[in-house]
Amino acid sequence: MERIIDAHLHFCPGEPYFDQIARAAGHINSRQHLQKEYERLNIKGGIIMGNRTLDPAAHVYPEVFRYCIGIDRTYLRGGTVEQAVPDVELHLRSPRCAGVKLYPGYNPIYVWDSVYEPIYALAEYYNKPVAVHTGETATPGALLKYCHPMTLDEAAVKHPNVQFVMCHFGNPWLSDAAAVVDKNKNVALDLSGLLEGAVQTEELLVRKKGYVDQLRTWLEYLGYEDVMFGTDWPLANLEQYIDFVKALVPEEEWEKVFFDNANRIYGMGL
Ligand SMILES: [Zn+2]
Repeated sequence: MERIIDAHLHFCPGEPYFDQIARAAGHINSRQHLQKEYERLNIKGGIIMGNRTLDPAAHVYPEVFRYCIGIDRTYLRGGTVEQAVPDVELHLRSPRCAGVKLYPGYNPIYVWDSVYEPIYALAEYYNKPVAVHTGETATPGALLKYCHPMTLDEAAVKHPNVQFVMCHFGNPWLSDAAAVVDKNKNVALDLSGLLEGAVQTEELLVRKKGYVDQLRTWLEYLGYEDVMFGTDWPLANLEQYIDFVKALVPEEEWEKVFFDNANRIYGMGL
């Protein structure tokens, strides 16, 4: 199998909630199991989307991973975006840190809000991407108006020298998402989070044919230069997810989508 980079995962071994969703996907939520699966499936690198704390000691990961430092709702329960700025800079200076992750929707803040200006200034200065949650959320208390893919347009226009990553392709607002990615040269996307749990890929491709055709349609509309494979581990079964994305993307584009684009956009140096 060709080499793969997983451009979007969460690394929370031993947390009961993540233990449970890993089991539902046919996995074990442990460092050993994940690394074994990465080896088996020829996944050569992964980008962890950071959660919770900004404490550098909590963001030490195995060699195969780099991470985006995340400003999530757990952090913002006790702090503000403004307070996060010095810590975010500390992370961005580290070669292990590949970028910043923002969680609009979970956080009731639009990505074009001026509160994020210092974060974008840092991302531009250190030349590292800002990954943004877009599309449906995993918790019902979140507010979708903040994470509609269209909200990324204004941030991208205001910050033409910042590389944005639209996580989850704005799912299920695929046509809106495609418009924003197509128009803004500084917006890429990842294909994580489209499935959860264990699935029968063949059966799913038939049962959800309308949805799958929409994904194929809007990907084909965009082309594959800025499209990255990601799993949202431990949400989905890794092998099934690879099969699913292979079914969405023409074979001649696999190398870009599964490896080259993430290697370039997140500066993995692989
Ligand atoms: Zn995620």
